[in-house]
Amino acid sequence: MQPSAIYMDHSATTAVDKRVIEAMLPYFTQWYGNPSSLYFLGQKARQATEIARGAVATILNCVPREVIFTSCGTESDNLAIRGVALARQNEGRHLITSPIEHKAVLDTMKQLQEEWGFEITILPVDAQGRISPEEVARALRPDTILVSLMYANNEVGTIQPIAEIGALLRQHPATFQVDAVQAGGYLPLDVEALGVDMMALSGHKFHAPKGVGILYVRRGTPYLNTMTGGAQEGSQRAGTQNVPYIVAIAKALDLAQSERTAKNAQLVALRDRLISGILAAVPTARLTGHPSERLPGHASFTMGEGLEADAMLLGLDIEGIAASSGSACTSGRNAASHVLTAMGVPYQESLSALRLTLGDENTIEEIEYAVKKVPEVVERLQAFAAV
Ligand code: PLP
Repeated sequence: MQPSAIYMDHSATTAVDKRVIEAMLPYFTQWYGNPSSLYFLGQKARQATEIARGAVATILNCVPREVIFTSCGTESDNLAIRGVALARQNEGRHLITSPIEHKAVLDTMKQLQEEWGFEITILPVDAQGRISPEEVARALRPDTILVSLMYANNEVGTIQPIAEIGALLRQHPATFQVDAVQAGGYLPLDVEALGVDMMALSGHKFHAPKGVGILYVRRGTPYLNTMTGGAQEGSQRAGTQNVPYIVAIAKALDLAQSERTAKNAQLVALRDRLISGILAAVPTARLTGHPSERLPGHASFTMGEGLEADAMLLGLDIEGIAASSGSACTSGRNAASHVLTAMGVPYQESLSALRLTLGDENTIEEIEYAVKKVPEVVERLQAFAAV
């Protein structure tokens, strides 16, 4: 077995789909013009960008000019949150978010609080990482201008009741921004059904390259462009568009959304076998996140006090399994996860987090291999700790 031949870290990133590469390749060397240029080569690039925008708009059930292409999910979250807060600061200075958001949201909120004097309410989550619509309703104030919540959590896979929260926010003027980075490849993205005003997506989570994202902005949403410069993207996000990657993200999103019903069913079956196999073989293991309202390929655990996440990950790597302890952005820090802490997981237990996130190329043989190897690695580490 080659080291890390079995990839079980799809929440961190995914391989680029060959069909996506094929779609984007002509825009590197053949149709490489700047989409803002007037001559033919530029107009070919512009046409590709607008076809991609139209395809994304169809999937999101919005109009094309509500789709902004960005450089990543982090940028989409930043533009949305800072853009709304600064545009609406004269109407109110109260923002709402949750403690389990990605740092792209939490650190943007923190900066708005510390540097700009905004007031932030951080909602509670339950032991399974769910935000209740009632808590959102309770936190709303007349001066609330923005509610930013994630669709699905990257560390524990829990899916939030976004449509319910969206419905209640229709009665309130606050802008509803949703980080859908982990949901993009797996869950419905109809912005009308979800009742969202802004939504962030990232291509590399659904088989497009790293470094391209989408921000949906409902027309009429007060939004200050904080990436200033040229008039690209309807003057909502300056910077020459990355045409090949825009073609890629649109193609990848289309493939992910059109194939997701069949693929999700397969992922759920693999995930459930992985979860039950690990829980049966490791008495100290506990599933983290919601048992059913979770992303289809997402399995996350705490493996037991005294086990260190990084040691487990290295042990699994030697066995050929690429896994994670939670967020790829914070791995190697050996600190308690802010997500598990918010869910009430005790500190020592939270240090033993293990996340295995599956994709459609994983096979049942790979799942059975992981069900055998994870307990072996855990036992080895427990035996070592007992010496
Ligand atoms: N939001 C969530 C929930 C994520 O999981 C991630 C990445 O892991 C991001 C935002 C950031 O996306 P990107 O890596 O495209 O900057």
